[in-house]
Amino acid sequence: MAKKPLLEQWNATHSADLYGINSWGSGYFGVSENGDVVITPFAENGPAVSIPDVIKGLQDRGMDLPVLLRVENILDAQITVLHDCFRAAIREFGYQGEFRGVFPIKVNQQEQVVEKIAQYGQRHHHGLEVGSKAELIAALSYLNDHEACIVCNGYKDAEFVDLALYGTKMGYKCILVLEMPSELPLILARSKVLGVRPLIGVRIKLSSRAGGHWTESGGDLSIFGLSTAEVVDALDLLRKEDMLDCMRLLHFHLGSQIPNIRDIREALREACRVYAGLVDEGAAMGYLDLGGGLAVDYDGSHTNFLSSRNYTLSEYCADIVETVMSILDEREIAHPHIITESGRATVAYYSVLLFNILDASRLEDRALPVDLPEDCPEPTENLLEVYNSISLKNLQECYNDAIYYRDEIRQMFRLGNCTLRERGVAETIFWAIIKEIAQRVDEVKRPTVELAGIQDSLASIYYANMSVFQSLPDSWAIDHLFPVMPVHRLKEQPTEKVVLADITCDCDGKLDRFIDPRGVKRTLDLHELKNGDPYYLGAFLVGAYQETLGDLHNLFGDTNVASIHINEDGSFDFVRELDGDSVADVLSYVEYDPKMVLERFRNVAEQGVREGRISPQDRYSIMKAFENGLRGYTYLNGLR
Ligand SMILES: *Cc1c(COP(=O)(O)O)cnc(C)c1O
Repeated sequence: MAKKPLLEQWNATHSADLYGINSWGSGYFGVSENGDVVITPFAENGPAVSIPDVIKGLQDRGMDLPVLLRVENILDAQITVLHDCFRAAIREFGYQGEFRGVFPIKVNQQEQVVEKIAQYGQRHHHGLEVGSKAELIAALSYLNDHEACIVCNGYKDAEFVDLALYGTKMGYKCILVLEMPSELPLILARSKVLGVRPLIGVRIKLSSRAGGHWTESGGDLSIFGLSTAEVVDALDLLRKEDMLDCMRLLHFHLGSQIPNIRDIREALREACRVYAGLVDEGAAMGYLDLGGGLAVDYDGSHTNFLSSRNYTLSEYCADIVETVMSILDEREIAHPHIITESGRATVAYYSVLLFNILDASRLEDRALPVDLPEDCPEPTENLLEVYNSISLKNLQECYNDAIYYRDEIRQMFRLGNCTLRERGVAETIFWAIIKEIAQRVDEVKRPTVELAGIQDSLASIYYANMSVFQSLPDSWAIDHLFPVMPVHRLKEQPTEKVVLADITCDCDGKLDRFIDPRGVKRTLDLHELKNGDPYYLGAFLVGAYQETLGDLHNLFGDTNVASIHINEDGSFDFVRELDGDSVADVLSYVEYDPKMVLERFRNVAEQGVREGRISPQDRYSIMKAFENGLRGYTYLNGLR
């Protein structure tokens, strides 16, 4: 690849700029002077923990990569900053209600996550949002705070309703949100049977819609929520039952990762009108729930691009408080408590996937033939001519010609008119041309799209010890972008343009789209692998949605998980470790019985002994390797 002359020595600051870590890291991540990625959970003047030190600590304890690292302090800090920002806005505008955040369990249901959210959230009365019986059961047993809300969304049956009503009876603020009209008669019937006054909410379909990847949840055609007419029916039923005092909450959810704050404001305006209408109808109300949607700036561009957001958290909070106030004050309606169900923004930052690179494959520099044999195919001669005529003025022309003659050679080969060896020579010349063009393309003022993309076609492939399907499913499924970068060697200039391939045998198992302040990059700048030295990368901001959506493609299982807690003196503790799936685990998920697997193989081995193909000692070694394999990690133990 073209190496530009260095005007000044490359240093860690250049790397920080190149990877944009100070833009997307939200202050939690940075690059140290000696070139490591560091974790800085206590803002500017606090301690910095080096990720390579954490990796060393894990490896010393026998934990192999890939590892999903959770930094508990970051979760604590994110919950706190959400509440602080809302509190600041509430104070600034003189808002009369309070902020009551809830965490939607579906965004990360892992036990350690929910446990820590309940713990760190307690001082802010941060609650939980659930969408199923399983999530409600988890919420009831982990949330020990009667001031915090448990918002019950999702479709409900009698069992779900009963559990929530028991929750209310025990003193929880368990709010049953109507997703379908038929849920109301069910709730009324069950609450009579159980003798509990229910807390009821209603989810509405707004006509407003937001832009973004995950915003199908909004709009008239949204599958969730009640239409205006259905809301009125529900109110009539409650009035008839003399239970309008039980209607307490209005809920809407526009979708996740809403990049544009205008969409949020528009929807909220509409929702506030509905809220006022509910109060007019005599409903008690008191809570306005804006759902999720608070976006994460994954690419650090601070724009309305899909993987970004064009607002800060403070702006989000101020906008919400101000909008609610302005509409309800006009109608002299008391300010409700504001609930948001921010999932992504709460947990994305706190997990990092750490993985090593196993190997690289790159286009080698091959020597060009000095002179071609007399009888060589014509396109080969033409290619060599093209190669010898490259100049800055004719790059595009040379590119077109090279492609043309390369295709001609391929066609000849298909028809049996040139040999394997002849085709090899032609392709060597072809790639030499492409490389030569790529080295000069930076000097072209306005390169065509083809020329501009030529360096990408020369990208090296680095093999990453992880599965995109297991650990970054959104990257595969919907082209979501996560910041990915090396976690060490950042004092050195990265010289390779790289596409990452994972270790599944699927051609979709790769990362070839990377964050860039100007859009999307097709290659990632990485360092050359040094003989045998380990090379570690991190995929950042992966705490939301990735874990349970991940799947067992090629039977690569859950990764190891480690949680650390950073102390104010800069030391850190490994507070929790979870072993990832073993081979036996993943086999059992797809209905193999590991004992049977072992027994079948033992029979095969014994048959080998019987037939004299292996000795009993061979059988012993073979069985040992097989058993170790079954017990072992599903990922590779490559360079360490
Ligand atoms: C998924 C979901 C959320 C979480 O949204 P984020 O954008 O991750 O904050 C909140 N509320 C409901 C109803 C959801 O379905």
